[in-house]
Amino acid sequence: MTQVKACPAPAAHSARMTDPALYPCFLGPYGENDDLLEKLVVEFLRDHVYWRRNFHPEDPPAIPTHAAQDPQFRAFEARLRRELHALSAALKRSVPFHSPRYLGHMVSDVALPGLLAQMLALPYNPNNVIEDVAPVTIDLEIRVGLQLARMLGYVDDPLRADCAFGYLTSGGTLANYQALRLALSLKAFPVALRAAAPPGLTLPDDDWSAFNLAPAAGIALLAAWQEWLAAIAPVERPLWMRRVQSQRIEHLGIAGFLAAHPSLSVPVVLAPATAHYSWSKGMKLLGLGRQHLLQVPETGMRMDPDALGSMLDDLRMQRRPVLATVAVLGTTEFGTIDPLHAVIAQRKRCADSGFGFSVHVDAAWGGYLATLFREPDGSLRALATMREQFAQFPSADTHAAIAALGCTDSITVDPHKLGYLPFGVGAFVCRDQRAMALLAEDADYVFGGREGSDYFRRYHKLGRFILEGSKSGAAAAAVYVTHRVMPLDHAHFGRVVAQTIRAAEAFLQAAMRFAKTMAGRLHVCVPYAPDSNLVCLALNPVGNRSVAGMNAFMDGLYESLRCDPGQAVQARAFYGSHTTLRPEALGPADMARVLAELDLDADTLLPDHAGADRLTILRHTLMNPFLIDAENGISYIERYFDYLAGCVPASA
Ligand SMILES: *Cc1c(COP(=O)(O)O)cnc(C)c1O
Repeated sequence: MTQVKACPAPAAHSARMTDPALYPCFLGPYGENDDLLEKLVVEFLRDHVYWRRNFHPEDPPAIPTHAAQDPQFRAFEARLRRELHALSAALKRSVPFHSPRYLGHMVSDVALPGLLAQMLALPYNPNNVIEDVAPVTIDLEIRVGLQLARMLGYVDDPLRADCAFGYLTSGGTLANYQALRLALSLKAFPVALRAAAPPGLTLPDDDWSAFNLAPAAGIALLAAWQEWLAAIAPVERPLWMRRVQSQRIEHLGIAGFLAAHPSLSVPVVLAPATAHYSWSKGMKLLGLGRQHLLQVPETGMRMDPDALGSMLDDLRMQRRPVLATVAVLGTTEFGTIDPLHAVIAQRKRCADSGFGFSVHVDAAWGGYLATLFREPDGSLRALATMREQFAQFPSADTHAAIAALGCTDSITVDPHKLGYLPFGVGAFVCRDQRAMALLAEDADYVFGGREGSDYFRRYHKLGRFILEGSKSGAAAAAVYVTHRVMPLDHAHFGRVVAQTIRAAEAFLQAAMRFAKTMAGRLHVCVPYAPDSNLVCLALNPVGNRSVAGMNAFMDGLYESLRCDPGQAVQARAFYGSHTTLRPEALGPADMARVLAELDLDADTLLPDHAGADRLTILRHTLMNPFLIDAENGISYIERYFDYLAGCVPASA
């Protein structure tokens, strides 16, 4: 337990308290706010019905008033009830995410504003593919993009040409695909422009420098081309647009594009070992190939910036272009945060020597942590001020990483994770919306269409820019309303996030007490200091010295914490999740430390040996706002450790 320093008592909110501001935000573990939910659901359902009637009240009811007496109608209703009862009964086997006994995956109770707004909007059934079928909610979706941009530190003023743009995806996975697609489009465009050679436009000297422009320079070139186009005679425009289009990677395909430019090769993507598997899926989907996803070495579950630097130098020497470096803000397995500020410094160093690439942040999990770092006016809070609120959070590196978000090219963030929204909403946000023109399906429009002048009008044809087609407008309304009721700063939404950090700090303290209580029976190790609200725990029975032995013990423990579809949910005292510690993610020094803390024989960690090449550990997402129940003086965290103690055989 050397890793975890003794925590001084936090000054502002005691870890023993729930912030009372959170009481109205959720339905609650006991359904405490049922009244509020029911009242508002009924109110707005009625409101919807009146809206239908008031559309053209002169139209009489098409379903006869006596229809409900018809035997067929009654039979239908009976079937409907039967199936709904069956569904409702089956759903009782759902995982109880709402409960403070749920410490497993990245999900908890949904916040009431989003739940209500979504239920309210559903019967209107807006389709956010295009404004013709979503005149209201598509606008809300674009505003959500601006809300997120502000939270992340991008320009959020739509009157500025370089304003950010964000929209909602089905999840972080699709947002990551969009990041790859945008980075590739932006990287290849200057090469296409060179090939088309519009006279008088200043272009890069050769294919290599065109392909390796920094993203900001690529966007500037795109803007210069659009101006060039606007300045020529209107009759010539279609010709020039076709010329450039015919040279683009989107037209030629990767194979055709590289054949036309033999000095170039498929660009690589750099991501840490702890990156989500959507990056591998994305490389396959875009036809870039899995072999072009390179792993950046890590130390202590975080990207090693020096290793990144030497990888980049090697790639430049081998003349292998880089599409993007992906940094993770809140890894899925460990909640750790890559040193984004150091990645940005590397990008600048490389761009200065003509080796540009995009930096994308996968903040699917950690994006909403940024709320804690924002003042209501959008500025960044000082590290010292934030420290007063917690025992250890945030680390200087975490603070610097959040401060650097605004310098990145694009970000993935999942409202359906730490945003406490119902599933079906991730988000993609790019720093400078001008790049989005490259993704549009319809080229005329992209390069000088009439509707393009106004920010909102441009994106009212959302389906042209994104991977999806038809998509839920109700989900967009839910995110918008949540961000309005709980603005994305430390004084509002940040209070929910702060509660999760306090829970994580309480969990660490409880782990230290647990280690003392269990001394002689168990070796207890928190393998790395958490950056956020995910805490992992490794346990090894005293006397066992082999990795395989510890893994078998941990598998047994996890058996009693996992979701078991064959059992009533009440049979579980607690829900947890598990993951593995791989030597390549932890780095050799930290791996040796962890093995020593657990009293494991390092020789029993066997590479390429299923079951013994990594350590199985418990993973806890401390997202539930009511883990520390002040009202009743219960800490579910303490109870969890009591439960774990009970799972350890006395002989162990
Ligand atoms: C969850 C997660 C994803 C994938 O997001 P989905 O919403 O599940 O598609 C990607 N990256 C990270 C870091 C994640 O935590």
